Amino acid sequence: MLKDKVAFVTGSTRGIGWAVARTFAQQGANLFLNGVSDQAHLDSCAGQIRSEFGVECSGFLADVCDPTSVKRCYTEIFKRYKRLDVLVNNAGILDDALLGMIPDAAINRTIQVNTVGPIYHLQEAARLMSRNKSGSIINISSIIGRVGNEGQAVYGASKAALIGLTLSAAKELAPKNIRVNAVAPGFIGTDMVKQLPPAKYDERVRSIKMGRVGEAQDVANAVLFLASDLSTYVTGQVLGVDGGMLI
Ligand code: NAD
Repeated sequence: MLKDKVAFVTGSTRGIGWAVARTFAQQGANLFLNGVSDQAHLDSCAGQIRSEFGVECSGFLADVCDPTSVKRCYTEIFKRYKRLDVLVNNAGILDDALLGMIPDAAINRTIQVNTVGPIYHLQEAARLMSRNKSGSIINISSIIGRVGNEGQAVYGASKAALIGLTLSAAKELAPKNIRVNAVAPGFIGTDMVKQLPPAKYDERVRSIKMGRVGEAQDVANAVLFLASDLSTYVTGQVLGVDGGMLI
């Protein structure tokens, strides 16, 4: 479904980003991964994808909030392929705290990583995609950006902002045949949620109508749909992947 397409997935050395990267590679995409701190792990992830799926794959060690590093990624993509077909803005952080107890540094870092970083990436990707008048950008938002949650005010704000970004960018880029959509996962069993206190974890699981925690692959499958030609007339949408948590 993505044969010979070029795709970039941020925060893709574990969790949902890793599942998306593997799914894209399985469908024939040439890939750029992204990690923030561990070059050896990033290289090993890229090597694993190359040997398992026979596609081209390399990684950028870059913090999504650093505009200079972000720019460097796209300069490199342009040099290598002269094109980009798919961007997945997946990197994100969760730092729970009740209102009135949120440290300033946590507010700023969460907004930087979850909202400002994706804006930088979207700008650079759109520039490259405009050259070919084609592309798909998928922002990984969250159910929390739609319905909120106690202790997640800043995370919720950062993810709601991603939905706003998706809608405006979709309108602006549609004439260039660049589609922009968001995926809003519910409760997915990655490292991000494993850090929750057991009582909170159980409470979240009880709110899932389908009665099971989501898997990273459940999200990757939805992202694949939005990245592929199966969705060529879909833009400006928020696709929930939440086992019925929202209904
Ligand atoms: P995760 O913590 O396993 O993965 C997050 C990834 O982002 C990691 O690889 C991390 O290194 C990377 N990252 C963090 N800060 C970065 C930065 N500054 N620059 C580059 N990379 C950075 O969590 P996950 O569950 O796989 O989350 C992936 C995305 O899905 C996130 O945006 C998250 O908010 C969203 N999400 C997750 C859930 C869930 O239940 N797990 C639910 C809704 C939304």
